[in-house]
Amino acid sequence: TVVMEDVGMSFGGPTPVLEGVSVRIEPGEFVCLLGASGCGKSTLLNLIARLEAPTAGVVKAPREGAAFMFQDAALFPWLTARGNIELALRFAGVPAAERRGRAGELLRLVHLGDAADLRPHQLSGGMRQRVALARALAQDRPLLLMDEPFAALDAITRDLLHVELERVWRQTGRTVVFVTHNVTEAVRLGQRVLLLSSRPGRVVAEWDVPAAARHDAPAAAALTAAI
Ligand code: ATP
Ligand code: MG
Repeated sequence: TVVMEDVGMSFGGPTPVLEGVSVRIEPGEFVCLLGASGCGKSTLLNLIARLEAPTAGVVKAPREGAAFMFQDAALFPWLTARGNIELALRFAGVPAAERRGRAGELLRLVHLGDAADLRPHQLSGGMRQRVALARALAQDRPLLLMDEPFAALDAITRDLLHVELERVWRQTGRTVVFVTHNVTEAVRLGQRVLLLSSRPGRVVAEWDVPAAARHDAPAAAALTAAI
C-alpha cells in the first residue's frame, strides 16, 4: 500500500510544487496521474519511490521499493535486449545460472522472444519500450512507477503497448502508478484517475473508471469529455 498524507514539496520557490496531497493506493491497483507539464507529477513519483523526502506530510510505500520506467527506455546500447534484462536481474540478486532463462521468460512476456539477441539500435521505439518494461519487471518490485513511458511513440504503437501493459499488469499483479498528460491514455489504462493542479500541485479531482469504459470507445469518450 502507498499512503501519502497531506504531503507537500517545496524546492524553495514562492509557491510549493505540491501541497496537501493525500493519496492511498492499494496493492494491485492501476492508478493514472494526470496533469499539465510542470505540475509536479514526476516529483510525486520520486516521493513515492522515496528518492526524495517530502518537505511536509508523510509518505509510506512498500519497503521492497519501486521500479521506474521513463519516456526514454535508456537501455545500454552495447548490450542486447537479453543482456539488458540479465543485468537488471543481476542487480536484483538473481543467481547467474537462472538469469538467462528468466530473461527469456520476461522477453516472451512482452512478446520479444524473437528479438532477444538484437541491440537497442536494431529495435523500434515500441520494442525498446517493451524491453524497458521487461527490465522494470526484472527488478521484482511490487510497485511499478511509469513516467510518460509511451509519450514518444506514435498512436498505433501506443495502442499496442496499452494492450501489452494491461495484460502484463494482470499477469504480474503489480501496483502501477502511471503518469501522463494525455486524458485518453489515462482513461484507457487507469482503474482510477487522479487529476493534479499546477502551482501548487493538489489532487483536485478523482475518477473511478469502470472496467467497461476502458474498452468501450463511446463510454471512454464520454468520460474523457467529462475530465
Ligand atoms: P512534465 O509533464 O513536464 O514532466 P511534471 O509534472 O513531471 O512535468 P515536475 O518535473 O515534477 O513536473 O516539476 C514540477 C516543478 O518542480 C517544476 O517547476 C520543476 O522546475 C520543479 N522541480 C522539480 N524538481 C526540482 C528540483 N530538484 N529542484 C528544483 N525544482 C524542481
Ligand atoms: Mg515529468
